[in-house]
Amino acid sequence: MKKEVPYIIFGTSNKNKAIEATAIVASSGVRFITLAEVDGAIDVVEDGTTFAENARKKAIEQALNLKEWTLAEDSGICVDYLGGAPGVYSARYAGADERSDARNNEKLLADLAGVPLEKRGAHYACHMVLADPEGNVVFETEQQCRGRVLFEESGVNGFGYDPLFEVIEYHKTFGDLAPIIKSAISHRARATRLLVPVLCRLVAEKKLPTRLMDVED
Ligand code: IMP
Repeated sequence: MKKEVPYIIFGTSNKNKAIEATAIVASSGVRFITLAEVDGAIDVVEDGTTFAENARKKAIEQALNLKEWTLAEDSGICVDYLGGAPGVYSARYAGADERSDARNNEKLLADLAGVPLEKRGAHYACHMVLADPEGNVVFETEQQCRGRVLFEESGVNGFGYDPLFEVIEYHKTFGDLAPIIKSAISHRARATRLLVPVLCRLVAEKKLPTRLMDVED
């Protein structure tokens, strides 16, 4: 069945991020439309030095460009022993032109060679921003998920550094843990959950545009 459904743009080209966040906002009735599904999206350069700068830039510039409500996030892994690296450079840690999870994980293991488990503490961070079509920030949060970097990869779930990132309470990596656990405790899940009441309010106030979309009966 088709129905008019309220939507916002999710300013990411990372399919995994969109999948993780979509399930969490479902209760608000709002759908995400990703950049791959819209015409005229621009490639916003992520040249900030903090997650906040990059997330704000991605949300505001894309919102002004598309004239749409736009959500953006910047995230990464910050390792204590490495002084918070790779941080905002997580996606391209293994090289400026690379976006290879395998190479990034290899480099992280090499940089932590010989470092004992008790010094391998780390956290994922996710800074999330929602901008209105005029480029005003109407919601912003930064959330974290604590863990540590193991000595070898384990598990196939998730993406990026997940097979190396052990959530201490579970004694398992995000690669091992079921996606439903990640969507309860991850940095992105925590940030996205805080967005839900904001989306509910925007729907109630009829501030969001709608599109004819497929919905389940
Ligand atoms: P961005 O797409 O420029 O924000 O880069 C984020 C990068 O941080 C990803 O490419 C991953 O390397 C890493 N990252 C962020 N969130 C996660 C996660 O939930 N799991 C694994 N890696 C993540």
